Amino acid sequence: MKRTLLPLLSILLVIVIGTQCTQHPPKDAPYRNPKLPVEQRVADLLGRMTPRERAEMLSGAGWMESHSNARLGIPAIKMADGPMGVRNWAGSSAVTNAATVPVMSTAFPAGIGMGASWDVELVRREGRVIAQEVKAHGRDMILAPTVNINRQPLWGRNFEGYGEDPYLTARMGVAFIQGVQSEKVIPSVKHFAANNQEFERHRIDENVDARTLHEIYLPAFQAAVQEAGVWAVMNAYNKVNGLWCSENPYLLSETLQRRWGFKGFVITDWGSTYSTAAAVAAGVNLEMPGGEAMRTWFAKPETQKDGNGAGWLTADKVLAAVAGGQLKQEAVDDAAQRILRVIITAGLLDNAHTGGGEVDTPEQRAVARTAATESIVLLKNAGAVLPLDAAKIRSVAVTGPSAAIARTGGGGSSLVRPKYSVTALDGIKEAAGARVQVGYALGVAMPGEDASEVSPQARAELRNQAAELARESDAAIVVVGYSSKLESEGFDRASMDLPAGQDELIEAVAAANKNTIVVMVAGAPVTMTKWIGRVPAVVEAWYGGQEAGHAIGDILFGVQNPSGKLPVTFPNQWSDSPAYGHYPGENLHVAYAEGIYVGYRGFDKRNVAPLFPFGHGLSYTKFDYSGLKVTPAKVAAGNQVEVTARVRNSGLRAGVEVVQLYVHDVKSSVDRPVKELKGFRRITLNPGEARDVSFTLDKSALSFYSAAKDEWVAEPGAFEVWIGASSRDIRLKGTFELSQ
Ligand code: BGC
Repeated sequence: MKRTLLPLLSILLVIVIGTQCTQHPPKDAPYRNPKLPVEQRVADLLGRMTPRERAEMLSGAGWMESHSNARLGIPAIKMADGPMGVRNWAGSSAVTNAATVPVMSTAFPAGIGMGASWDVELVRREGRVIAQEVKAHGRDMILAPTVNINRQPLWGRNFEGYGEDPYLTARMGVAFIQGVQSEKVIPSVKHFAANNQEFERHRIDENVDARTLHEIYLPAFQAAVQEAGVWAVMNAYNKVNGLWCSENPYLLSETLQRRWGFKGFVITDWGSTYSTAAAVAAGVNLEMPGGEAMRTWFAKPETQKDGNGAGWLTADKVLAAVAGGQLKQEAVDDAAQRILRVIITAGLLDNAHTGGGEVDTPEQRAVARTAATESIVLLKNAGAVLPLDAAKIRSVAVTGPSAAIARTGGGGSSLVRPKYSVTALDGIKEAAGARVQVGYALGVAMPGEDASEVSPQARAELRNQAAELARESDAAIVVVGYSSKLESEGFDRASMDLPAGQDELIEAVAAANKNTIVVMVAGAPVTMTKWIGRVPAVVEAWYGGQEAGHAIGDILFGVQNPSGKLPVTFPNQWSDSPAYGHYPGENLHVAYAEGIYVGYRGFDKRNVAPLFPFGHGLSYTKFDYSGLKVTPAKVAAGNQVEVTARVRNSGLRAGVEVVQLYVHDVKSSVDRPVKELKGFRRITLNPGEARDVSFTLDKSALSFYSAAKDEWVAEPGAFEVWIGASSRDIRLKGTFELSQ
């Protein structure tokens, strides 16, 4: 070829490729063909994109939308918040709360309540019906589930997660994701990682050792990736070991991508980015929010004062970083390709979610009601004061700031606006029936609500009215707790104590009526020591979604038998928590000094008695445990251990028991928790009925994360299997030996 022809040919080539890149691709382009494998479609589509089009994929186009590409027919991913149902997408919480045409959908119980159900199938169903509502609203993605661990009781978002235990949280998270993805809706498991306090959430740097990360804070994310094949992960606001989660190679590229094999995309939490090249290179794929909505929001002084970062992954900045050599084109391609893979896998290229479907259907309501019922934990029931017998009692006094107001969820981005909600008072009236007279007195207002600013005399008056009503009634129900304004995303609770005046109300009512039942509506443990000895019954109802009132009524009157178990330890007082003294940190640093000893692991280790232990929950019937079999007695590494126990309902009512399996490593080269949850089964038994419950233990149930080897290790030696009705009500013990 003549030398003079070469430049001419190169120019022609550029023109041909350039035209191909800017042309509308043919209708039969491989990427448009749903019959072809996903990876082939992704490669074909990416190959047709210009560098700018690829870079554009990396940032949002609005508050809750990714970029679309009209030329190639790539739709925007339209998002909505979760996890307690579908939440508005209009803008930040301030904008959303002020919306004149609010988005309404079914409000499900808070994650902590779903965790208390220990019902994996229920959570899967919840994920599925929430995804159906996402589509009905014309959206494609739900920013859920939250699988952060309840490290300490004051975190404002404890109610969103599934509790303190990594195994239980992982089971719930996986089920939710599977439910959502079965409807071809994109979940986003969040917040990766170790998002455990609201205090300085944008700036706090957490010092967490590798073992603690892998044993406590990461397992639910790992299970989401490896068991559920989750399509998206949202990074957390905070820093972990010196680096923001949005530019943390250890978390994103090393752990999520390399070790776990994550194939989906990483989306930033809203306003959590602080760099372009470092973020993309570390493994962030889509920055949210973006576009004009981002610019308006970020221009507000309070947005920056809070520590948000935004606008780093715009196409201009990404292209400039590539041109300047700080960022490799492959990293940009990888990010774009991950988003395309999810769009294609979710079917969005082939069938857009056009919306217009029905929301709050009978099925969705039924799931919400079952979930609310199963979430309730009967904490105390001295003298079997519960269930109330509607055929025997004639009158009930209902009082407290959460009796006549339905508190469906905690505050912040997860708070759903339901079409209706059932108050505890209405649910109690319905369950009590026409024969029972149900009286109501406010007793005390929630701080910030109507009568809250009244004088001490007026307060005493309110309290006396409630006590008077209680005195005249056969039983008294005090519905207390927090509200979405007092327990919320954005700030932590100042203490574990009930808001002003509620302890006094309980004491006054308990003094007036010996059949006083406290119903707690809150998302985290609350101090109960002041009055727990003076009331015969306490029921934990969490934030139960729109059907909470029905569930409370049904449980109190025995229409339903309580079956929930605590997914979090209830300490007597905040200072008993293993994280006490290591929260909220100093100079924007917090050392996770309790290490792996979070929740019951910490109470066991230091031998501190909780008020109510992890896994605790009473029933109106009784369950007997017997016949533990652990086989084989000696198991070779890599093989499984089968565990069977017999559970019998020895009471008079049908009921559900959550049978819990804990593993105790008898001797280990490293310090290990006294026990760790490694299995559970939820079984329904009629009176007199018995059933064998089986578990299979594999290497993961026996392993610890070895800091020295940087991997999971199951050490040979003796193990004990403990089967119980709670972490501190162990009924059966067996042993086996793991050989080399
Ligand atoms: C929250 C996320 C939420 C996002 C979008 C953030 O402030 O931390 O959980 O999904 O906002 O609303």
